[in-house]
Amino acid sequence: MDVDFQLLSPLVFTIFAVGFFSIHMLRPNRAAFMFAISYLVGALAFISDIFLSESALISMRTMVTALYAATAIVFSSGLWIYYRKCAPWRMMFAILIIHVALYAWLLHVEFYWMRSFSANFGCAILFSAGLLAFRGNLNRIVDTAMFLIHLANCTLCFVRPIVLTQMVDGAPTNANHSEELFVLTLHFFVATGAVVTAMGLLIMISKDVFEELQNHSMTDPLTSLLNRRGFDLRVEEMIDRAGAAPVCAIIGDIDHFKAVNDTFGHAKGDEVIARVGRMFGQLTNHERFSARFGGEEFVFLGRGLTLKQATALAEELRAEIENLNVMAGDDIVRCTASFGVALRLPGESPSSLLARADAALYLSKQAGRNRVYSETDTSVSWLRETHSIMKRVSTRCSDAMDLNTLLNTPQAR
Ligand code: GH3
Ligand code: MG
Ligand code: MG
Repeated sequence: MDVDFQLLSPLVFTIFAVGFFSIHMLRPNRAAFMFAISYLVGALAFISDIFLSESALISMRTMVTALYAATAIVFSSGLWIYYRKCAPWRMMFAILIIHVALYAWLLHVEFYWMRSFSANFGCAILFSAGLLAFRGNLNRIVDTAMFLIHLANCTLCFVRPIVLTQMVDGAPTNANHSEELFVLTLHFFVATGAVVTAMGLLIMISKDVFEELQNHSMTDPLTSLLNRRGFDLRVEEMIDRAGAAPVCAIIGDIDHFKAVNDTFGHAKGDEVIARVGRMFGQLTNHERFSARFGGEEFVFLGRGLTLKQATALAEELRAEIENLNVMAGDDIVRCTASFGVALRLPGESPSSLLARADAALYLSKQAGRNRVYSETDTSVSWLRETHSIMKRVSTRCSDAMDLNTLLNTPQAR
């Protein structure tokens, strides 16, 4: 059998080892590092296997088997690390020792196929340890796909020696190992498995990096809450899923925050924003989320909350902020915040809901700050209407006064 062709598997393994190493170098990723080591050890195992003569020492043959097993252990550990779980190292090492010892013993027996079964089954069991890492983690399509690919790999490891036994003519001996069909099939299985697995892992890792970057672009670094962009995306999603459930918006704005900055400095101001942000963050669950809208303004959106409940929540926040003590040397920075609350009307757009919450916030600022205003649509419309009527009246009054002034000027007379 041509040695060049046999180099296919180690070549494929080396290429992916370099790929995973590069990913790890660009952005430290322990799982990618483990996969790189696994592919590298796999390549070494194949190369040693190819160049190992038939008369090689038992210790050398045992070492190659240990290298294949190490490939499986490191690969499975990579999967456990990827899913942020503690790998079952003890169990895997115990299997490794039994597997290598059994193989070494079988080397003394002139029964080649038994050894082939033992080598493949040992690796298959160690690879299967990686399947356990998927437990409770099959939420995304990419995880399910990777699980199926790895399941196929493990199954192939179990099935491969059985298939190969059927393919070799004559009495099974070590010499069969170099028969063309045997080697061709072996390398086809291994190289295809390695490529499909590596592609699956690369998709999984790049998807994570993409999601992380996306989260980064949607998160406010000071408070770790969603930023405006993140809020806009989440609000659409929540309203789409809300159906007939009530949705309430709370907008909170720290009072006279400019004075906090002016008195205690921008860094203390940042600390206050971060502490208030944490209070909003604590309200977050799968039906509620908060965002920093910019500056010292925060917004909260809750599904399944009545206006009364949302107003009570805003009142709790207001009281919590009022009691917040941020130390600045010997001084204590104290602040208050004003809130506006609104309940979404049927079919109402997020921007209209926020505009109504903002109108309520405006009223609470007007009324003296450090308070919560909520609106039913009619009450605030009424307040807004009254406000605009009063504005118009006052404009008319001042116009009338201007006319009087004008009429009383000497030129007019
Ligand atoms: P009001 O009660 O009417 O809300 O008064 P205010 O002073 O809180 O509001 P104004 O809009 O006049 O000032 C907001 C200030 O918030 C001005 C700006 O310097 C400060 N600010 C905005 N973003 C940040 C930030 O990220 N960190 C700090 N420390 N200050 C910020
Ligand atoms: Mg303010
Ligand atoms: Mg503001």
